[in-house]
Amino acid sequence: MNKKPTVGIFKFTGCAGCQLELLHLEDVFLDLLKIIDITYWVMVKRENIEGPWDISFIEGGISTPQEIEEIKQIRKKSKIMVAFGDCAIAGCIPSIRNWIPQMESENKVYTDTSVIHSTKVMGIGEYVKVDAVLKGCPPHRDTFLEFIKASLLQIRPRLRQHPVCVECKYRDNECLITSKKIPCMGPVTSAGCGALCPSLGRECEGCFGPMSNPNAAALADIFKEIGLHQEDIERKFRKYAGMTIEFRKEAGQ
Ligand code: SF4
Ligand code: SF4
Ligand code: SF4
Repeated sequence: MNKKPTVGIFKFTGCAGCQLELLHLEDVFLDLLKIIDITYWVMVKRENIEGPWDISFIEGGISTPQEIEEIKQIRKKSKIMVAFGDCAIAGCIPSIRNWIPQMESENKVYTDTSVIHSTKVMGIGEYVKVDAVLKGCPPHRDTFLEFIKASLLQIRPRLRQHPVCVECKYRDNECLITSKKIPCMGPVTSAGCGALCPSLGRECEGCFGPMSNPNAAALADIFKEIGLHQEDIERKFRKYAGMTIEFRKEAGQ
C-alpha cells in the first residue's frame, strides 16, 4: 500500500472557524485518517511534526512580519499549499482593518503598542505561491473532502465557479433583490453554502468571496438603484473580500 500523504493544518490571523469546520467531519474523521496522515495540527494534536508535508492547509491571513517568515518556512516544506478559507485567500474580516490608517485599531485595543509590529492583513498569496484556494468563511466541510479526494486521485477538484444565486434557484427561493429590494450579494458570491442565508429570508453577505469572473460593478449599480449610499455599498464589498481583485474597485480602493 502506498504511504499516506502527510497533511499539516496551520493557523494564522483568523478566528479559527475554518479549523472548527474540519472538526465537523467527526462522522467521517476516522475513515479520513485511514487515507491521510495529519502530522501537524496544533488545535487538535499534542505531538506535531515540523514537516515536510504533502499538503498544507493554511487558515488565516498574514498580519505581522513574524507571520510572513513563518508562512515562507511552511511553504518550503510543503508540496501543495492550500489557502483554506477567505482569511487565507485575501484577509477576509480581519482585512477590514486595512481601510483605516495603520496602527489606528491597535492603538484602540492595546495600552502599550511598543511590542505590536503589524502589517496590512493580506492573503497568503501575497508572500508565497498558493496551489489551491478553498473559498468560504469557513469553507464547507464537503469542499475539504472533495479536495482531499481529488488530491489522492491526482485529478482536478470539482470546486464551484458559479454564484450563490444558482443554489438559491435550486432551492426555489424567491429572489430577495427582485421581490423585496433587499441588497443581496448572491449574484457575485461563490456558491458552496447551499444558499444558506437567502433560504432563511436573509440576504447573502458574501462570505464565500467572489465567484469566478463576477460583475461586481453591475451589482453595485443595482444596490444604488435600491437606495444604498456609496458608503454602504463599499462596506458590503469590503466585508469579506475587499482586498480581492474582483471586489477591490467596488470596495473603494
Ligand atoms: S475565513 Fe472566516 S471562519 Fe475562517 S478563520 Fe477567517 S474569519 Fe474565521
Ligand atoms: S436572493 Fe440573493 S442569492 Fe437568491 S437569487 Fe436573489 S440575489 Fe441571488
Ligand atoms: S448565503 Fe452568502 S453569506 Fe450566507 S453563508 Fe452563503 S455565501 Fe455566506
